[in-house]
Amino acid sequence: MMKNKSIRFKMILWFSLILLLMVGVTFLAVRLASGMVLRGTIRDYLISTVEENVDKIKYVQEQGDPGANIYIQYKDGFLEIDMDFLDVVNDVHTALYAADGTMLYGENPLSRQTVAIPFTESYTWHMDVENTRYDLYDRRLNIHLEDGELLWIRGIVPETNSAAQLRDITRMSLILLPILLVLAMFSGYLLADRLLSPIRKIESTAARISKGDDLKQRIDVGNSNDEVGRLAQVFNHMLDRLSRSFEAERQFTSDASHELRTPTSVILAQCEYTLDRARSVEEYQEALQVIHKQSRRMRSLIGDMLDYTRMDQKSERYPMEDVDLSQLVCEATEQLRLIGTGSISLSEHIAPEIHVQGNRMLLTRLVQNLLSNACRYGKENGHVRVALSRDAESVRLSVQDDGIGIAKEEQERIFDRFYRSDASRSIQGTGLGLSMVKKIAELHGAEVLLESEPDMGSTFQIVF
Ligand code: ADP
Repeated sequence: MMKNKSIRFKMILWFSLILLLMVGVTFLAVRLASGMVLRGTIRDYLISTVEENVDKIKYVQEQGDPGANIYIQYKDGFLEIDMDFLDVVNDVHTALYAADGTMLYGENPLSRQTVAIPFTESYTWHMDVENTRYDLYDRRLNIHLEDGELLWIRGIVPETNSAAQLRDITRMSLILLPILLVLAMFSGYLLADRLLSPIRKIESTAARISKGDDLKQRIDVGNSNDEVGRLAQVFNHMLDRLSRSFEAERQFTSDASHELRTPTSVILAQCEYTLDRARSVEEYQEALQVIHKQSRRMRSLIGDMLDYTRMDQKSERYPMEDVDLSQLVCEATEQLRLIGTGSISLSEHIAPEIHVQGNRMLLTRLVQNLLSNACRYGKENGHVRVALSRDAESVRLSVQDDGIGIAKEEQERIFDRFYRSDASRSIQGTGLGLSMVKKIAELHGAEVLLESEPDMGSTFQIVF
């Protein structure tokens, strides 16, 4: 049931429960502590009142001035009791007793109930009478009668006082604590509301994106750098990346369809034209050749596109290992010789035993693409020079030709997908080779450098 509640609700619920528990415990502790303190105070008061009365009783042989003291005849003499004797003060009742418990002077509200309690020196008792607790304190007097009898003073105080004060404290707590509780819950509610508002923003933005498909939306959480602020930033970065890759995807699809449309249109037009009426064998052959050429173009386009997207999608499909680059470049040039380079001559300057961390298949593809470009965009009887060298910091692969070259303004763009320079329109190509070269170099942390001059030739360098 709790699972479906909002975080705010859960936070406030937990907060309130814990607060309630704390308030309860505090209340009990205060009650207990104040009860103990009050009881202690009452006992102290009882003891000090009794002690004060000790000096106010003397035993004399002759009765003195009855105006100044009270005289009670006892045995052979008189008990002389000072006028200041505190018999009842602040609920403390004090009385003088003979050793057998007979009260000689003073007040005792519980004489009946306490008559059986023997006197014990300097000790506080307590007893419950009709729902009231009484504290008792006995004190032996320093009076020695001739027959050796001891006299006692006993003080008694009810704890009604402490109960009343405790009731006041309880009443105060019962009024104040709920008010505090409500205040704390209210501020907890406000706090939760404040803390969770950026999360609600994230939620609503995400909802808007999923409804409206608009990846341009971003969460605005100001410049707060707390956990939620950082979450929002991460979310925004993720959206940036997503929208960029969606945009790239969309662009690629549109470029690819655009590229495929040309050969398809040519094939369609050729078919329609040829099927229009009966043709001669030569005419049919010519048409088939056109169709054949366009189909080959489509096949290589589709092949390159597949390779490109595969590489784009999952870099983990290409494990990195130690690759002997010298050997790899040699194999690529040999293979090129086997296919044939036409009138173009090929020379290699390859330092031996150069190893790099990389993926063999991708690096082969990179070298093949550069070599194939150098040959395709080379001149009649031209020359292609392949070099691989190493210096202190880097490994350098360079492919140089003396072909048609690339104009300055096109040098940036030839690495874009499907881009082909005006000068090369007549030559077969898909426009994907160099973008693949660039991607592979990036995967290997390498840099692609280009120097070129129209009609003079081009040099592509890969610096690892
Ligand atoms: P493709 O060669 O299939 O057209 P690339 O991506 O390999 O695609 O090359 C893109 C463009 O760059 C080519 O169409 C061409 O105009 C230019 N280019 C690439 N290599 C060379 C080169 N060695 N000399 C001159 N132009 C080149």
